[in-house]
Amino acid sequence: MRSIYWVRDDLRLHDNLSLSAFAERSHEGVCVWMPSKSFLRARPKRRIFILQSLKTFTDDIASLGGKLLLLESDLPEFINQNQVKQVFYTEAVTYEEQQEEQALQTKTKAKLISIQQNSLLADADLPFKIQNLPEVFTNYRKIVEAQVSVRSTVLAPKKLPVAWELKSVREFQIDSLFDFHPHIQPGEKAGLARIQEYFWQLDRLRVYKETRDGMLDWNESSKLSPWLSIGALSPREIYRQIKIYEDERGANESTYWLYFELLWRDYFRLVAQKKGSELFTQKTIPNLSLEQQHERFKRWCSAKTGDDFVDANMNELNRTGWMSNRGRQNVASYLAKTLQVSWQWGASYFEEQLIDYDPCSNWGNWAYLAGVGQDPRNRVFNTQLQAAKYDAGGVYRRKWS
Ligand SMILES: Cc1cc2nc3c(=O)[nH]c(=O)nc-3n(C[C@H](O)[C@H](O)[C@H](O)COP(=O)(O)OP(=O)(O)OC[C@H]3O[C@@H](n4cnc5c(N)ncnc54)[C@H](O)[C@@H]3O)c2cc1C
Repeated sequence: MRSIYWVRDDLRLHDNLSLSAFAERSHEGVCVWMPSKSFLRARPKRRIFILQSLKTFTDDIASLGGKLLLLESDLPEFINQNQVKQVFYTEAVTYEEQQEEQALQTKTKAKLISIQQNSLLADADLPFKIQNLPEVFTNYRKIVEAQVSVRSTVLAPKKLPVAWELKSVREFQIDSLFDFHPHIQPGEKAGLARIQEYFWQLDRLRVYKETRDGMLDWNESSKLSPWLSIGALSPREIYRQIKIYEDERGANESTYWLYFELLWRDYFRLVAQKKGSELFTQKTIPNLSLEQQHERFKRWCSAKTGDDFVDANMNELNRTGWMSNRGRQNVASYLAKTLQVSWQWGASYFEEQLIDYDPCSNWGNWAYLAGVGQDPRNRVFNTQLQAAKYDAGGVYRRKWS
């Protein structure tokens, strides 16, 4: 049957259930990608990371006989014009992306075959309905740790369907690859290589829990988030390798803690599903006029707040597209709580800038810190105390001044 594989945040061959189903159940087919709204909002560094990862994905599927097309017209039109009968894709959990799926439902007659596959635990295995997701992470974690196992990964398909004769479409191409970050390389192979490096060559998984709050050295935390954000890494593959590491080199608090952080990631995916569009609109009551907020927001974005810890982190973000978790918590709290600026502006700014932007982790963490998300509490970071603790000698602040 004529099918397409709609490429979304799932740029991988390994542990890709949708791609495997497409391979098994189609007699002719192509992979298609079109820029999402979020991609169009992104600044160059994230765009380049995604485009270059698409380039490596194109090469990887070509080695299996597949082809990737770049769609400029809309997807329903392509499906209808080419009489496509089946569409395989990874199910989205956020509102805007779900709207794209609904457009396929209403505008085409193709059979839609979607799989939820970018979280560690499958939604279907959870012992509660999403609407009953515990309000507090710890309660969620205790339930799933006791009752849910991580499913096994699946192997990459051996062969992909061949394309039918296509008229007036563009095959995905980029001529040259250039560096956009000193440490982040595009694509699935680079993501898998980072696991190899961090777990096995450098043996940093052993000390992850003690070092993860560091801000200076790239190897203080796993830095797996860029590849997770575009689906070039499956969280289950990371888990599989944690288990192998524990068998071969021993389990400790650090090996457990990486799994624990992947549960946080899952938790924010569930929060996004539970809240729908509300995740993006939950409001705090402003104390300041719009003009005052704008002026403060501009200073925050351009690293001119006068707080050297906040400004250093914003400089790092603006120059590299990266900020540590410690930095993100501090600048978010500073914007929402200290400067009293709408937290949504900060979350949107992160969406544009972060190479590892992920809608659930970003908006979920921002809402949590603004005190409007799950487990609402008044969490205010004292940035100067934080600087004294996490950048005692001021090396980080001098580096990014
Ligand atoms: C305001 C704010 C915005 C954020 N925006 C994003 C975002 O857009 N994309 C993103 O991937 N993460 C986001 N995070 C979460 C976290 O900061 C990053 O996942 C982490 O810094 C990535 O570095 P790492 O891979 O070295 O993390 P590690 O410490 O090595 O953790 C391993 C993995 O666990 C997951 N993880 C760790 N901490 C969190 C967390 N707090 N929430 C959700 N997942 C977590 C990530 O997938 C991460 O790659 C945000 C956090 C805050 C406070």
